[in-house]
Amino acid sequence: MRGLDLKIRTYGWALVQVEDGSSSFAYTIGLVENYGHPKLIAVDVKPELQHALIKPLVDGIIERGRPPAGLLALGGLRCVEVHADNLVSEFFGSWANRYGHLPRPGQALQVVLPDEVYCECHAHAVRRLDLPGPLTAAPTHRPNRAERRRHGRNGPGGRAA
Ligand SMILES: [Zn+2]
Repeated sequence: MRGLDLKIRTYGWALVQVEDGSSSFAYTIGLVENYGHPKLIAVDVKPELQHALIKPLVDGIIERGRPPAGLLALGGLRCVEVHADNLVSEFFGSWANRYGHLPRPGQALQVVLPDEVYCECHAHAVRRLDLPGPLTAAPTHRPNRAERRRHGRNGPGGRAA
């Protein structure tokens, strides 16, 4: 928690990254507190891509009060309001630890990526926090044959999940 606090004091925000078996997600802490903007959360996105996805959106929020529209359009990204059913400690535990309560409705936006950036098995299974709960299970990745070959040679590919 101290490292997190230091980051928030230094940069005004921090990214909390959680990996739990097949499920990985990341969310910001500090945007509501310091910039009056809902937190951003990305769910079912590879850990190594989470920061690259969220940082430029946060830069826009810090500079102009909102994620850059051009960047959203180019990336096919959407920011959708997290449904009250999904404002749960499973997703926002560190946030709740800091503020003493879970995010309130309107305080969290999910960054939704377009289906094209995902592999076939993830494209239609990525969890949507803007829909009423209960949530489906995190999608499990089933590498296809080409991917297994690539993996053998070059390590994991660059897909979002
Ligand atoms: Zn997959």
